[in-house]
Amino acid sequence: MVSTRSQGAQSNKSDMQPPTKRVRMANSDVEVAKQPAGEPGLRERLLSLPVELFGEVCSYLDAIDLRHLSFTDETFWSVLVSAKSDPIWRQAFKQTVPSMPECPETMSGSSYARFMLAECCMICQVKTWRLSVDYFHRVRYCDACYQSNIISKNAVLKLYPDFPPKFFKYLSSDAVGSSGASLGSVHSAKRKNQPKYLKATVAGVYELWESLSKTPSSPELANARLIERLENYANNRIKSGLTMRHWQLVASNRKSAQLAKIRNQRRAMIFAKLSELGYNHRDFPGWHSEVYSPVALTEEGS
Ligand SMILES: [Zn+2]
Repeated sequence: MVSTRSQGAQSNKSDMQPPTKRVRMANSDVEVAKQPAGEPGLRERLLSLPVELFGEVCSYLDAIDLRHLSFTDETFWSVLVSAKSDPIWRQAFKQTVPSMPECPETMSGSSYARFMLAECCMICQVKTWRLSVDYFHRVRYCDACYQSNIISKNAVLKLYPDFPPKFFKYLSSDAVGSSGASLGSVHSAKRKNQPKYLKATVAGVYELWESLSKTPSSPELANARLIERLENYANNRIKSGLTMRHWQLVASNRKSAQLAKIRNQRRAMIFAKLSELGYNHRDFPGWHSEVYSPVALTEEGS
């Protein structure tokens, strides 16, 4: 059975958050045969499958469809954000067109999907145009979640007054890698020129530094090793962040081109039909939303 209890949940807090809003599945228009009364429906039958078979079914989905599935129902959500579903996500990323950059080892598949594919906040799922995307920290946050999880340098020093200043340059989204590359600021003019730090990362680094400082043998050597780790961390974040950003740009351009194609086909079909009925363009407003909507006409409509 596909059980949420037996699979355990990810430690990532955002994975614990059920979707507040259901998203329509891509194929929800498909006509489904009516289920005889008392018989389990498709959803129930899918959820009653052994987890291996459920995984097999999901292996045919690309990451976009899998994300839609996870948003349709709280049970699917619980199953698909659990650690056992990670291989399913990783397989799905490879099937997405264009195929996605590999999911980082340190990130769960469902978190990566929400970062790369969702058009809503990764934590609270709110849909807003004011989302801040940070490829260094790998987050996509609404204003409220941003305020709670991303902090300034002053805020870091308030929390940890003895935080070593030399660490800052490796932990901000403005970090510059050894190759000279940088990801730059998040997509918000308001927050430009303010280095940003992920609260959880800063806490982890501080904790590690504190424990290393107590190393009886050679605290200096331990600290030098920590600096080396931070350098690797920043280089890795910048390199993978650039790849992720490029992929999203390509995917976004591809989607825009597809929508434009659908919109143009729809407009051409509608105008052809109107011409056939004896009307011409002057009889209709030039930018009517019904004509220019990026939705293909159904067989009935055409
Ligand atoms: Zn949020």
